[in-house]
Amino acid sequence: MKISSILKDERMSLSFEVFPPKQETSFESVRAAAEKIASLRPAFMSVTYGAGGGVSGYTVKIAKGIEEKYQVPTLAHLTCVSSTRETVARRIEEMKDAGIENVMALRGDLTPELLENGREGCDYRYAVELIRQLKESGANFCIGGACYPEVHPESPNQREDIAHLREKVEAGVDFLTTQMIFDNNLFYNFLYKLREAGVSVPVLPGIMPITNANQVERAIKLSGAFMPQRFKAMVDRFGSDDLAMRQAGIAYAADQIIDLFANGVTKVHVYSMNKPEVAEGILGCLSDILGKRFSA
Ligand code: FAD
Repeated sequence: MKISSILKDERMSLSFEVFPPKQETSFESVRAAAEKIASLRPAFMSVTYGAGGGVSGYTVKIAKGIEEKYQVPTLAHLTCVSSTRETVARRIEEMKDAGIENVMALRGDLTPELLENGREGCDYRYAVELIRQLKESGANFCIGGACYPEVHPESPNQREDIAHLREKVEAGVDFLTTQMIFDNNLFYNFLYKLREAGVSVPVLPGIMPITNANQVERAIKLSGAFMPQRFKAMVDRFGSDDLAMRQAGIAYAADQIIDLFANGVTKVHVYSMNKPEVAEGILGCLSDILGKRFSA
């Protein structure tokens, strides 16, 4: 099922994200975690893709496994930053052959190696080029794109960032998912600016439940996200107690989601990583709000 159809349904629901294994030896454990999350019946699940492309095959394998076994629609991520057009064309064919309907089209991060080698042998500068290639492939994919309420780190300012985002939408993006946010006001302000700039596709806010203190540093490094004082206080107070931190992190994310729902947002994307217990914890906090949908 296309995610664009799911987004037309006005009922409140969540999507969950998993990432594929880096090595073959961890494939089974990742697949088991992804399937456990799928058994909770989210609106859809996204499966990320390594920017280097080294584990590329696993994205499609996990996505297809979830769809076939649990009938949960999936979104397969694809990055292009370190690739040639031929490699990406092959990936697109693999996706078509596997019956993938939804693709999250991303540039990928500029790793130190890419910056050092001057991106030699890489054919892409921006995600918009991948979006155009997907459109030209004739596969009629539903295409997602990434967006940044706090401005992408390489962008000089929000105005330019939104102008480039608009190019992605004009090239064929059907919906957008935000970088993780810990303060919903950033999302509301961003959405206002997008609508003002004529970007009218659905935008899913991305929520990352922080369930251990070590995750905080990684999350900030990855996203540059603003941490509100009450979030910092939570990590200060509970960060050294694993169970307490997990409970507090789940409650914080659930509270953000309730606020988004209360303000009219109907679809929220949860960066659940490969943690079924976190997905379950969030659904537990929202069981009556979401109704029976998740009673798998
Ligand atoms: P782009 O849209 O190309 O934007 C990158 C930068 O270039 C921005 O600053 C933009 O303003 C600027 N720009 C765009 N077009 C132009 C132009 N024509 N001229 C000048 N500047 C321009 N990474 C992974 O490796 N795997 C994943 O699975 C993955 N999933 C993600 C999912 C989400 C929801 C998000 C938010 C991020 C994800 N990422 C993933 C990280 C992503 O790859 C990085 O944030 C990357 O740095 C930017 O990717 P993008 O697709 O947003 O790039």
